Amino acid sequence: MKPTHIEHIGIAVKSLEEAIPFYENVLGLKCYAVEEVKDQKVKTAFFQVGQTKIELLESTDPEGPIGKFVEKNGGGMHHMAFAVEDVAEALNEAAAGCQLIDKAPRTGAEGLQIGFLHPKSTNRVLTELCGKK
Ligand code: ZN
Repeated sequence: MKPTHIEHIGIAVKSLEEAIPFYENVLGLKCYAVEEVKDQKVKTAFFQVGQTKIELLESTDPEGPIGKFVEKNGGGMHHMAFAVEDVAEALNEAAAGCQLIDKAPRTGAEGLQIGFLHPKSTNRVLTELCGKK
C-alpha cells in the first residue's frame, strides 16, 4: 500500500480545553480546527506539524472507545495514522497479513476515509489508514 507519510498521531485527552495550551503555548503550534465526530463519540482538535497532524481526542461518551481508553490509561498516545492513496484497497491488502478492525472504510474527521488495523497484528500500536478515498 506504500503509505506516503504519517497523516496524524491520535492522542486521547480528558479535556481538549486543558490539553490545547501545551501544544499552543509550549510547542507554539496553532489549533486550526475543532470538530465533533459523532460516529466515534469524540471531539477532536487538530495541529499541523509539517505533513503530519496531531489529533487530540476528547470523549463525548464514557462508553465510547476514547472514553474507555481514558478511563483505563488516563489518556496518552492512542493511535498512529498512515496516509494512503485508497483506504479500501489498503485494507484489502492488509487483510492478507493482519487482523482488521474495519473491513471497509468509514468517514472520520476532516471528511477523510479511515480504517483501523487491530493492535494484535501491529505490535500493539493501534494503526489507522487514512486517505481521500
Ligand atoms: Zn485518527
